[in-house]
Amino acid sequence: MDPADEVVDLLGDLIRINTSNPTHPERPAAEWVAERLAEVNIDAQIFESERGRASVVARVAGTDPSRASLLVHGHLDVVPADEAEWSVHPFSGEVRDGYVWGRGAVDMKDMNAMTLAVLRNWARHERRPLRDIVLAFVADEEAGGARGAHWLVDNHPALFADCSEAISEVGGYSVSINNDLRLYPIQTAEKGINWLRLRAKGTPSHGSILHDDNAVTRLAAAVSRIGTHEFPVVITDTVRRFLEQLAELTGLPIDPDNPEPSLRMLGGAARVIGSTIRNTANPTMLAAGYKANVIPGTAEATIDARFLPGHEQELLETLDELIGNGVDREVLVRDIAVETSFDGAVVDTMSEALRSEDSGARPIPYLMSGGTDAKSFSTLGIRCFGFAPLRLPPELDFTTMWHGIDERVPIDGLRFGVRVLDRFLSRC
Ligand SMILES: [Zn+2]
Repeated sequence: MDPADEVVDLLGDLIRINTSNPTHPERPAAEWVAERLAEVNIDAQIFESERGRASVVARVAGTDPSRASLLVHGHLDVVPADEAEWSVHPFSGEVRDGYVWGRGAVDMKDMNAMTLAVLRNWARHERRPLRDIVLAFVADEEAGGARGAHWLVDNHPALFADCSEAISEVGGYSVSINNDLRLYPIQTAEKGINWLRLRAKGTPSHGSILHDDNAVTRLAAAVSRIGTHEFPVVITDTVRRFLEQLAELTGLPIDPDNPEPSLRMLGGAARVIGSTIRNTANPTMLAAGYKANVIPGTAEATIDARFLPGHEQELLETLDELIGNGVDREVLVRDIAVETSFDGAVVDTMSEALRSEDSGARPIPYLMSGGTDAKSFSTLGIRCFGFAPLRLPPELDFTTMWHGIDERVPIDGLRFGVRVLDRFLSRC
């Protein structure tokens, strides 16, 4: 079967296995992946971090054992979906209007299906890669990977010991500039995470009495200072390269040292790019009190703070100044920032594979403000790239697909992705 046809069936099957995190553990999807690999005589091993929280790892032997291995990883879990909001059932995997619809269609069962389609086709034709390819289909990415990639790296690092590079989400998809020019952002960096809880203490009292030790007032002031603070612009290596290439390719007069005025011309993209040139801290949750006429003794807030590679200390020092006295700060979740350079044979091969299938393709490195399993695998010294190739129609607002209602992926884009991935994996 042509892998460009099989990918549609594989993706539909995988979407129909509901793996909403955390209500629907990944075990059935992991077994399905292991079966698809076993059908073509690729041995796969299933690992469970907790009951049902399963990941699958397999190795496809290359012809040149002197070369380090390539890791291709993808997460099996998805975020939940409310059927009532969707045009199709979110776990139907329905094919309609040239798209495969369903939760996970772009995040990221598409890449899992493309990877399987390519390697199943190779196995059927006894084709082998140059270097070993390690496949990891993992649990729990949508909750930070403690039961998936992080767990595998902590408990079974030997599986990945000889991997020098990795590909996965988020990148490799087209952003149309005009008919002849499409950017393909490839993720080479991502911000680190600090989810913080603030707790203010005060003296409880009756709400009708004069009072100068109010926990709610103290907390609200700290939250307000954080929420309105403008962090200074810092241009990291990846972002500088991104801005320089963006200026060159689009002709926009972007000054990499002072990009904000020109970014405003990009509309909605300005907020996305804007979040990659500074640390950020957004208040996201508040809790205090239980009755209108009782001043509570404590008040709590949650802050989602993100830092650029190398700028965590600066973020925390700024936050402590903004928080002030009388409010405690506690770290709820913390994870690292990641950055690698956009160079070397693997980058050349990615770029060549894209250009061979799209003469208007312009690969461009970028820093993502969110987080992926690259945070786990990079701790093993693996250079991580977001490269899940897709060619998208210019009218599709792809950013709304991620965790969005009516998530769907164009079939032509998937076929393109399979061809690019085939070319990349056979040459890298
Ligand atoms: Zn994802």
